[in-house]
Amino acid sequence: MEGATRGIHHVTAIAGDPQRTLDFYTGALGLRLVKLTVNYDDPRTYHLYFGDGEGRPGTIFTFFPWPGAPRGRGGTGQATAVSFSVPERSLGFWTERLRSLGIPFGGAATRFEDQAVTFSDPDGLALELVEHGGRMPDGPEVHGPVPAGHAIRGFHGVTLSVEGYERTAGLLTETLGFRLTEEKGNRFRFGTRDGDFGGIVDVLCLPSAPRGKVAAGTVHHVAFRTPGPQEQAAWRNRLSDAGLDVTPAIDRTYFRSIYFREPGGVLFEIATDPPGFSVDEPANRLGSRLVLPAWLEPERARLEEILPPVRIPEPWRKTG
Ligand code: ZN
Repeated sequence: MEGATRGIHHVTAIAGDPQRTLDFYTGALGLRLVKLTVNYDDPRTYHLYFGDGEGRPGTIFTFFPWPGAPRGRGGTGQATAVSFSVPERSLGFWTERLRSLGIPFGGAATRFEDQAVTFSDPDGLALELVEHGGRMPDGPEVHGPVPAGHAIRGFHGVTLSVEGYERTAGLLTETLGFRLTEEKGNRFRFGTRDGDFGGIVDVLCLPSAPRGKVAAGTVHHVAFRTPGPQEQAAWRNRLSDAGLDVTPAIDRTYFRSIYFREPGGVLFEIATDPPGFSVDEPANRLGSRLVLPAWLEPERARLEEILPPVRIPEPWRKTG
């Protein structure tokens, strides 16, 4: 299908305490902090970006941490679970790791043929580790606290909870280029045509569930990949033609974004792969300091006073 998306670019969620979020995603889950910056729409709040060693699209989980934010409520109109892909035969390692860190997790779960472990982040956001045979293309040889053979490789997919399934399914298949690959009970699985990494969207049809409320511990939006600004402009036309209300392209420094709400209520974004996270700091120093966009640099001193102090995780090291 012309212009079909290659899967998830990033997922953005709301958190409470920034340090707790940093510690959990880098320390417990072993993701790399690839950017420490501020929310461009509210610079008194951080914007944390986690990802793989290189911060590649398909691995990027971002957070707006609001200290003291009330907890949201998972429900319809939301992405209610985020799944990471881990190598086959890794779940034993992960359950042992979660147990040793005192992180409660659910019993063995299956997601169609895949084995999964379910747990929550410190704000209650539902996470899954899914054993999966596919692998990412090789990245730079840098490593974090989790041995490479078990490390999270990026997203496996997301689960959207919607009241009615058809219109969301229609958007995914007719406009975004996904295809229905499996269904069981009220769970419908969609994948990208080429089976790209991080290319799974499960839609849970929950006609009588309450509407979700976006606050701490909930996903704010899900972004899908597009190769560049030209393809993004074509997306914008296609989405408008499909009757969706799409924003103009917005420069997010590391990618360009357009946003729209899918018919089930979940906020979607289409983000360009380039320019990526090494556009404003060297690839081997990603996430090592607070980075501000040029227009906020004159306010750095004031912002550093307002933003809660955080301990930046140990930098990742080159292997060998
Ligand atoms: Zn986004």
